[in-house]
Amino acid sequence: MGVFDALGDRGHEEVVFGSDPVSGLKSIIAIHSTALGPALGGTRFFPYASEKEALEDVLRLSGAMSLKAAAAGLDLGGGKAVIIGDSRKSKSERLWRAYGRVVDSLQGRYITAEDVGTDAYDMELIRRETRWVVGVPVEEGGSGDPSPATARGLMAATRAVFKFLDTGDFSGRQMVVLGVGKVGSDLVRRFIEVGGKVTIADVYPPAIEKVTKRFPEVQVVACEDVYDVKCDVFAPCSLGGVLTEETIPRLRCSAIVGSANNQLATDEDADRIADRDILYAPDFVVNAGGLINVSEELRGYTVDRAAAHIDKVYDNTLRVLESSRERQVTPNRAAVDLANQRIEEIGNLRLFRRGGDDRN
Ligand code: NAD
Repeated sequence: MGVFDALGDRGHEEVVFGSDPVSGLKSIIAIHSTALGPALGGTRFFPYASEKEALEDVLRLSGAMSLKAAAAGLDLGGGKAVIIGDSRKSKSERLWRAYGRVVDSLQGRYITAEDVGTDAYDMELIRRETRWVVGVPVEEGGSGDPSPATARGLMAATRAVFKFLDTGDFSGRQMVVLGVGKVGSDLVRRFIEVGGKVTIADVYPPAIEKVTKRFPEVQVVACEDVYDVKCDVFAPCSLGGVLTEETIPRLRCSAIVGSANNQLATDEDADRIADRDILYAPDFVVNAGGLINVSEELRGYTVDRAAAHIDKVYDNTLRVLESSRERQVTPNRAAVDLANQRIEEIGNLRLFRRGGDDRN
């Protein structure tokens, strides 16, 4: 298969391969769209089984970032990067600096950040070669770990869902959180703090213990039973693909609001959820808090302004839900359409104002 065939017809603007034989760097940066602004998206460090698999992943993830940034109302495009390797064994200063130089060569068309397998300290090493990186440590003037911001955004989205369903505030509400890692555990804390009740499940016992030690009132269920628990909100915060033909009929919740990317196993699952009269708040709309938070570094990070910006996830979610009701389509369809509409309208405006060429 040729290189351009491999790109498919998803409309990517540019794909850049980086390599440094000394450190073993093998990176792929995919810029899906810069219609709304520079393409911002994290760098994933993952031991892909093949280069084809890595390319496929970066193309898919970068396309999703265009929608996420547009749905969040940001002046940012969609991009993502992957580095092929084992994040526990292959990282070195040389590798990060070699990668930083690849990012720098794009002159701000792509801005990187952390993702699966990378952290704020890796971003600091990248920054020694390029300024086009966000999510650096707090002590270095950055915004640090984006997870608390993502959890804050999920709370704002949940508020919007309660408003839409006209079901009052958080007090006495039940939430089931599947996956209590960085985002899920902070979501549990926030939900309890406003008077909610929480049930959790996780494959990793230490993650469960960390939560129950702090909040003994939290109920724990096995991962295989999590879909059967009656609750107001089901929050998938582990991996994608958990909402399937098998799990959806079992759900006993009023709404789904979670951080995991690509929660729907297939597009048809959005219809299956709607048929069960469950409200699905689209993942890429409600989990944008982390992206919004790191984007604030581009104009000089302040905690208060970032928090206010993250809370706009409330308005973004409500807009999607209202549009879905008005058009009689699923919230996922409404969210994709609103995001694409923004890319088209504002992207065209930017092209027009800059004399037809915004690509340099
Ligand atoms: P994490 O790795 O800290 O936590 C994930 C948790 O899920 C872990 O405790 C893990 O043990 C658990 N888990 C994994 N597989 C599971 C399974 N099959 N069943 C039950 N539990 C399982 O990750 P995170 O940073 O908290 O992110 C959670 C999800 O949200 C991921 O899908 C991530 O891509 C997405 N997300 C995160 C952010 C962020 O700011 N961290 C932003 C947007 C989206």
